[in-house]
Amino acid sequence: MAKVVDRRKLNFWEELYLPAIASGMKRTFAQMFKPAITLQYPEQRPEIFDDYRGAPGLVRDQDGREKCVSCQLCEYICPPRAIVIVPGEAPDQPDYDYSEIEKAPKEFYIDMLRCIYCGYCEEICPEQAIFMTDLYELNAGSRQELVHDKAKLYDVGGLRVDAIQKWKDKNASPGSEERKNVPPSGNPGDGAH
Ligand code: SF4
Ligand code: SF4
Repeated sequence: MAKVVDRRKLNFWEELYLPAIASGMKRTFAQMFKPAITLQYPEQRPEIFDDYRGAPGLVRDQDGREKCVSCQLCEYICPPRAIVIVPGEAPDQPDYDYSEIEKAPKEFYIDMLRCIYCGYCEEICPEQAIFMTDLYELNAGSRQELVHDKAKLYDVGGLRVDAIQKWKDKNASPGSEERKNVPPSGNPGDGAH
């Protein structure tokens, strides 16, 4: 059976409505004399905070090397299955050859129509090769354009100075001072975080 709820009766001032209108106008006029917070976008850009999670991008290290080793952990962890990776061989480098040691992605796609900007890919990456950037404007004329390929992902991610620099001392000649300073694990960045 339906329950009837009694409505509270309005008092005299409430029935006039004028106090409520005056109160609303007071608030409106008060706002008119405060500094405007509206931005003239796109000429004026909002401040993007460091931990903002925009579109994910792949990064190169300070020497322009691809950091991704196509381990596919990010593809595995991505909740909406937005990432597709085709592993491949790392290209030869002019200063040393690491192609027999590391892999690199042959193809790398992120479907931005599926991405939910959760940041799991950045969290899980063992190579610090993928980061959530401050890119929040994704416009496209077709759905296909919003599937970011490897070139687009490196374009979005750009270059990042590598805190670990795992190849730095491995490239030093045997017996050199840099080589002697490499810890037994072979990772000069161990304990850097
Ligand atoms: S941010 Fe989340 S949803 Fe987007 S690609 Fe990374 S893991 Fe997938
Ligand atoms: S971005 Fe990181 S987690 Fe993803 S495949 Fe490359 S190295 Fe692995």
